[in-house]
Amino acid sequence: MSSLTTPTPTATPSENALDFLRLDAELTEDEQLVCDAVARMVDKRVLPIISECFEAGRFPRELLPELAELGVFGSTLQGYGCAGLNAVSYGLICRELERGDSALRSFVSVQSSLCMYPIYTYGSEQQKQQWLPRMARGEIIGCFGLTEPQGGSDPATMGTTARRNGDGWVLSGSKMWITNGHIADLAIVWAQTPDGMRGFLVERGARGFTSEEIKHKFSLRASNTGALFFDQVRLPAEAALPAANGIKAPLSCLSQARYGICWGVIGAAQACLAEALAHAGERVLFGRPLSHTQAVQLRLAEMVRQLATAQLLALQLGRQKQRDALSAARISLGKWNNCRMALDIARDCRDLLGGAGISVEHVAIRHMLNLESVVTYEGTETIHQLTIGRAVTGIAAF
Ligand SMILES: Cc1cc2nc3c(=O)[nH]c(=O)nc-3n(C[C@H](O)[C@H](O)[C@H](O)COP(=O)(O)OP(=O)(O)OC[C@H]3O[C@@H](n4cnc5c(N)ncnc54)[C@H](O)[C@@H]3O)c2cc1C
Repeated sequence: MSSLTTPTPTATPSENALDFLRLDAELTEDEQLVCDAVARMVDKRVLPIISECFEAGRFPRELLPELAELGVFGSTLQGYGCAGLNAVSYGLICRELERGDSALRSFVSVQSSLCMYPIYTYGSEQQKQQWLPRMARGEIIGCFGLTEPQGGSDPATMGTTARRNGDGWVLSGSKMWITNGHIADLAIVWAQTPDGMRGFLVERGARGFTSEEIKHKFSLRASNTGALFFDQVRLPAEAALPAANGIKAPLSCLSQARYGICWGVIGAAQACLAEALAHAGERVLFGRPLSHTQAVQLRLAEMVRQLATAQLLALQLGRQKQRDALSAARISLGKWNNCRMALDIARDCRDLLGGAGISVEHVAIRHMLNLESVVTYEGTETIHQLTIGRAVTGIAAF
């Protein structure tokens, strides 16, 4: 005898949309502890203020002491007051910070991967002692000057030069779109020299060094972005990073930062998806909540698919990085895929919120606008696609 009763729809999800593959369960206890500590800080201190910071175009500098206390600056470096964490922990830090806002993750990426990493990797012992402990404590803010007005995708053509002047150097040129550019105490500046590209440590206050804040941004509004100008800046010999010779040095820093972005954008996507899921469960249209419609479930399922595969990709890159077995081309795949995933999810979540989705009272529009920068900086999608193309054909088609 067949039953005519239909099963009662249950409103209790059996899976977690934000961690569908249960990858967090695979983290070590130490990784989980780091992740939880940063997540708590983001919930308590970042989320209550970040939409106001975004609207006001203000970087929340007051958070730096707490971030330093958590050990997030130069977190993977050993010694010099740094936490010596593994690569997955660094990824989790980026994820949790970017769940708050891409501006905070950008700050930590620049401070850690683009400033502390080159000093640690290419600097003299004296440079390391002088800068790294204070940068780890957040007392010194760094910035990384590679991009110039004439084209960031092709840094080999940069116009900034450093010429020899006795024992020292004279630096001339300008840099554009520099995160922390107008608030940094120390700029790592890349310049052409007669011996190829070199990196220089330039302190704020050096005669001939000025900066300007880039305003009127509609993206990363809670991040400071600046332009740097060097008018015949005289630098001592010890301003040069002794072991940074050639364009491979700045590219190696970008690899560190791009790896962090692979993880960071997952946090932005999770924040958007969590908000859209809650909205879909509450918003009643045509007599039923949005989440009861097939079209909305298809969209949510698509987001879960994209997010879960991006999480798997980030974890695989992290485990390879820990074994020192990661290539720049694989990082390019992660940066391209995961930024695209986060941008697509943020846009779709924005749409699911309807008109309310354009308000900064909801997180989706803020993340969506931020991700327009994240997909562009540290190599655009095209540059990463061409990097992968080169890796699989052996031909550079840039
Ligand atoms: C908010 C923000 C923060 C940033 N922070 C920093 C920082 O801290 N330090 C720093 O040095 N830089 C920073 N940048 C700069 C960033 O890295 C560059 O914007 C990026 O590399 C692209 O360079 P570009 O803007 O000059 O664009 P372009 O290089 O002019 O590219 C324009 C377009 O051309 C495409 N393109 C380029 N080459 C090719 C090709 N061979 N074939 C086909 N298409 C191509 C690109 O994909 C892109 O769509 C930041 C940028 C932003 C927006």
